[in-house]
Amino acid sequence: MQKSLSERDQAVIWHPYTQMQTAPAPVALVRGEGALLFDEQGNSYLDATSSWWVNIHGHAHPHITAKLAEQAAKLHHSIFAGYTHEPAVTLAEKLLPVLPGQQARVFYSDNGSTAVEVTLKMTIQYWQNKGITRKKILAFKDAYHGDTFGAMSVSARSVFTRAFDDYLFEVTFMDRPAEENIDSLLEDMAILAPDTAAFIFEPLVQGAGGMLMYAPELLDRLLAFCRERGILLIADEIMTGFGRTGTNFAMDQLRTPPDMITLSKGLTGGTMAMGITTCTEEIYDAFLSQDKLKTLFHGHSFTANPLTCAVALASLELFLQPESRANRDRINARHRQFAVELAYQDDVRNVRTMGTILAFEIETGEADGYVNNLAGFLSRFFTERRIMLRPLGNTLYILPPYCITDEQLDEVYQSILDMLKAYQEQWG
Ligand SMILES: *Cc1c(COP(=O)(O)O)cnc(C)c1O
Repeated sequence: MQKSLSERDQAVIWHPYTQMQTAPAPVALVRGEGALLFDEQGNSYLDATSSWWVNIHGHAHPHITAKLAEQAAKLHHSIFAGYTHEPAVTLAEKLLPVLPGQQARVFYSDNGSTAVEVTLKMTIQYWQNKGITRKKILAFKDAYHGDTFGAMSVSARSVFTRAFDDYLFEVTFMDRPAEENIDSLLEDMAILAPDTAAFIFEPLVQGAGGMLMYAPELLDRLLAFCRERGILLIADEIMTGFGRTGTNFAMDQLRTPPDMITLSKGLTGGTMAMGITTCTEEIYDAFLSQDKLKTLFHGHSFTANPLTCAVALASLELFLQPESRANRDRINARHRQFAVELAYQDDVRNVRTMGTILAFEIETGEADGYVNNLAGFLSRFFTERRIMLRPLGNTLYILPPYCITDEQLDEVYQSILDMLKAYQEQWG
């Protein structure tokens, strides 16, 4: 008998973030359209988390497909040192003016983690090129900036990093700002400031840390304080960028502009992998010299791949259309309504929304094993319902593609209410 795709997968594939010994057989997808993905048998799955937060316009969008085909007929790839091409230049020209602050230069890389690596290298070398010793890097507790070693170093030490902790460089972690701690945070920062090179943060929402949201006014106080003391500000907008938090970029809600921005996830509308690091003229200028050692020695084989740039450009066009904004506002209004209903449910804690994100915690008691049971339960429940929701620990969140319809949103909301009922029957 012919083997299914899922069975063939199990013989040869190693999946990300997956304990392969206990993981259930993966769902084999063959096609996507709008907010839906379809498996081998033709079943549809409602993608309520934009496939790891990337598919902002839904799947297989015809405009993106057309632009990809157009570019594929012309130029697939070229070296990007000493050569350039239309998609890379046009994308940079169109992107820079819509970014927060005075972003002047685009540096291309391959994914979110590499965009973070690039920003860290730029930071460290910026100070060296200027002949100033500033070594500390600040980040928030619960931060997540990626899985490569530099990115892991500026991320919270957690189960994800445990095996590698001895190999990560030292970073100073601060609490997220709140009314209660803002003054003491500023005091701590004042002590660290003279030796601090940069502060990297996920503005307004810490994604992988559990969709932890915090107020723009408080972040602004930290950023203004850092700016006065010459600390470079790195806004990691890999998750928050391209409309997730209500504004085009989360930093649009802040008064203090960033020196550098990292982008990925929504950048290509979830079509192809790409990372971007942008910086101000001030940063860029510090690398201009007759001295070759002041060069930024970083690049990837696929830096600024033309197909990927063309797709990112197509995605940006869709994103800047009024329809995209209207969809985001509609999702936000629906989320807020549902948040009120959800807050009344048993075993639900800390319901919160921002832009197109809705998140809450499921009350489990404390023990870790229990949370593990919960993850298994949730994963089975939603897979059976063919809704793609994937918890972060005991945090459940919705982060849909902007094209999701009202009916589809209702289906997601209802599945959450049904899950809570089933949860109470099983564990309550
Ligand atoms: C996902 C993410 C990254 C890492 O991006 P990858 O493309 O998965 O390497 C970095 N920072 C933030 C805020 C993210 O959400």
